[in-house]
Amino acid sequence: MRGGDKKRVFGGLDLGGTKIQAVLLDEQGNVLSQARRVTPQKGGPPAILEELFGTLQEAARMVKLKPSELAGVGVGAPGAVDPVAGVLLHAGNLPGWDAPHPLAEVLSKKLNVPVFLGNDVQVAVAADARLGAGRPYQSLLGVWWGTGVGGGIYLAGRRWMGRGAAGEIGHMVVRRGGARCSCGRRGCMEAYAGRAAMERRARKAAERGEKTKLFSLMEKHGKDRLSSGIWLQALKQEDGLAERLIARAIRMLGAGVASAVNLLDVEAVIIGGGLGTRLGQPYVERIAEAMRPHLFVPQRPPDVRLSELGDLGGAIGAALLAQPSREGRSEARGSTRAHP
Ligand SMILES: [Zn+2]
Repeated sequence: MRGGDKKRVFGGLDLGGTKIQAVLLDEQGNVLSQARRVTPQKGGPPAILEELFGTLQEAARMVKLKPSELAGVGVGAPGAVDPVAGVLLHAGNLPGWDAPHPLAEVLSKKLNVPVFLGNDVQVAVAADARLGAGRPYQSLLGVWWGTGVGGGIYLAGRRWMGRGAAGEIGHMVVRRGGARCSCGRRGCMEAYAGRAAMERRARKAAERGEKTKLFSLMEKHGKDRLSSGIWLQALKQEDGLAERLIARAIRMLGAGVASAVNLLDVEAVIIGGGLGTRLGQPYVERIAEAMRPHLFVPQRPPDVRLSELGDLGGAIGAALLAQPSREGRSEARGSTRAHP
């Protein structure tokens, strides 16, 4: 602390389709408090902004702070983000968010502090690179296995952003002319490994009459979709369909991630995301195993590690957006931007 200055505290908000997670972070990256609320399913951007504010206020109250006393706030949001303008362009899984909205500006006025906006996966990978499983490495690939499959790349200690869209490992083509992907193309890794794609496949199989516990577990837990927890439950009960779809996802992850490693030769692969975090270490080992036959230098595989920050990684990474970069973990960009 400098000459009696108040400790600088940063706020981070992870905005998801089902929940909003807030954390407060000190300058050393320690989590001081956290709060979690349900994402409003009605009311569109104004309702969601109100809840973002409320969740942050709740986390701040626990350490006797007002939101206006924070040094800055970051928001990680799903979908396409313009980080410079602070605009969330569109977010398919946020109810009612179908047009660009100046999220950072509106929230900044509400909070009376600077607000920074980033893509949810990008900020979560950044959090693990700076404070989690990625700390020992100068180069790494983050693979965020969830509803879709996102990612992030660090080279020589710096985040590689390309022209703005680098790290989209979910759209590595693992089978030409293969399964239809959410991006509209075919054969992407996400079309096999993304939780949304696996759920579509499972529903079709169940409609054909294939036996599975996936949907009875879903109903039993009061869910309307196959969450990561439901997949884990079904695997624990040795559900044949769940095992088959997860095995297929892992084969495709193995091929796609190993191909990326062949190109970049990174020291480590960090597996995160809802499904990656929930399934945990045994499945990280299975992904490493599935990569092996595709590695060009198999005698020197990268370390494959589970994200250390888990569920809080997105909110911690969002808070880091508001904090000046340390340890040279800064951004490296290509020469032009994809979406000027
Ligand atoms: Zn795709």
